[in-house]
Amino acid sequence: MFNLSHPKLGTLAEAEGYAEVADFLGDHTLGSVVPAICVASDCDHTADLEPDQRAGSREACGRASMKSGLVISGMI
Ligand SMILES: [Zn+2]
Repeated sequence: MFNLSHPKLGTLAEAEGYAEVADFLGDHTLGSVVPAICVASDCDHTADLEPDQRAGSREACGRASMKSGLVISGMI
């Protein structure tokens, strides 16, 4: 089941320059790297990660809480 209204998804799409979450997902569905965002409530760190990333960590974010937009939306 898709969840296009997840607040982090809106933040991520906006950070990537998209006004609509659906447009963001449409452009990245088949990508080999996909924009990801930290799902911690106090952190909006973004990075390009593998599409199936569910627990990634990156330098600017000390926690393993990066999820790709595709995972957050429930598309994969
Ligand atoms: Zn974070």
